[in-house]
Amino acid sequence: MTENELRERLAMHGEALYRRGLAPGSSGNMSVRLADGLLVTPTNSCMGRLDPARISKLSWDGAHLDGDKPSKESFLHLAMYQERPDDEAIVHLHSSHSVAVSCMADLDPADVLPPITAYYVMRIGRLPLLPYYRPGDMALAEAVRVAARSHHAMLLANHGPVVAGKSLDAAVYNAEELEETAKLFLMLRGCDTRWLDEEQIAALREAFPN
Ligand code: ZN
Repeated sequence: MTENELRERLAMHGEALYRRGLAPGSSGNMSVRLADGLLVTPTNSCMGRLDPARISKLSWDGAHLDGDKPSKESFLHLAMYQERPDDEAIVHLHSSHSVAVSCMADLDPADVLPPITAYYVMRIGRLPLLPYYRPGDMALAEAVRVAARSHHAMLLANHGPVVAGKSLDAAVYNAEELEETAKLFLMLRGCDTRWLDEEQIAALREAFPN
């Protein structure tokens, strides 16, 4: 896809995520990889009303090349791309159900959500919880960088998910699958539940290797 086509796709996905209530206000940001840097949604922009021509372009060392001023969370995206050369896009949301789960006490920080459905196992797999950092704290970028070496999706405590994909469509679908699974997890709290077992998970990993 050309850079202009990717700008249009970012605006289209931003609008869809906003309409679904997954990117309220000016929250959330998205990016795609280019040959010479990345496109990232601008700071204080509403994902529902992105102007393709004004989407920010950054170089790989974080210099602002084009468009409006980039999201203050761009450093998360840069850290993740640097560790994950095969991923082409990243979606970060402050979506309610995922944020609610990110605030729960007694989570397993190595794997936050249980294997509720096959689709969750295939799209997300294991989801680590990263500690809370205040906005703008560069220690968060370092924590994301370390987690990104072994995970394409992670949950930031009291904040929200960061999810990568092999294409922009895949990153958006992965983020939506995570949000739906967080919603199901909250719906099932207090119910006697049956998660997928080890054998079922192993069969999925064999049938659909990443
Ligand atoms: Zn955020």
